[in-house]
Amino acid sequence: MESEVLKKKLSNIKERIKKAAIDCGRNPDTVHLVAVSKTIPKDTVRKAITAGVDILGENYIQEARDKINALSSYPVSWHFIGHLQSNKAKYAVKLFDMIHTVDSLKLAHELNKQAKKINKIQKIMIQVNISMESTKAGIYEEDSQKLIKEISLFENLSIKGLMTMPPFFNNPEKAGPYFSALRILRNNIRDKAIRNVNMQELSMGMTNDFEVAIKEGATLVRIGTAIFQAGRVGFGNKGNGIGDKL
Ligand SMILES: *Cc1c(COP(=O)(O)O)cnc(C)c1O
Repeated sequence: MESEVLKKKLSNIKERIKKAAIDCGRNPDTVHLVAVSKTIPKDTVRKAITAGVDILGENYIQEARDKINALSSYPVSWHFIGHLQSNKAKYAVKLFDMIHTVDSLKLAHELNKQAKKINKIQKIMIQVNISMESTKAGIYEEDSQKLIKEISLFENLSIKGLMTMPPFFNNPEKAGPYFSALRILRNNIRDKAIRNVNMQELSMGMTNDFEVAIKEGATLVRIGTAIFQAGRVGFGNKGNGIGDKL
């Protein structure tokens, strides 16, 4: 993609983020853009960095490793947002500043072990399956507090917040209740003041629904299509709107 097009898309998204924050009385500086660069070639990612992206989200370890190594001279933060298998934990802690998708004790245990080996405190978020779809990753809400308490005992992990992916709706307003459920859960856990647990971050909202997520308290919005795909912003065919039938 051309630098100019990328710059335009990025400034459009940043404006929309700012407007969504201001419209609901939030400070726009509390919402950060994670530019999701899965499947995007490193040269395009480099252009995005030059255009002002400072957090990148990747889903696949192997692909991310090549890109992160190639772009290691840039002062950007890399976030892992894909499904992580325990046997890849070793690579994940070497490559990523933040891992959004921790949803089991087994995975947390392995991340802690690998982080300890390289003397790192790994920042993580807990992925919650708020919609309880059987096909989705994430811990169920009712089991989340127990998991967080257990993970809080791992010395080389630092819990920073919660992440979720609601069902896809053609009408993004319908995702609102899922986002607000995550915020309420976050507030409940925060009120418990568990040692080593900081509940500042809410990772929620993608191309189709980030404005709704910001209204419900998102601090990290994960946006790929609207930045990296050709065509009109928001015009991508993102699925069949299966959630609209729920
Ligand atoms: C791909 C992906 C995104 C970005 O989605 P877009 O609709 O392209 O903005 C966000 N979060 C996760 C977990 C993803 O896998």
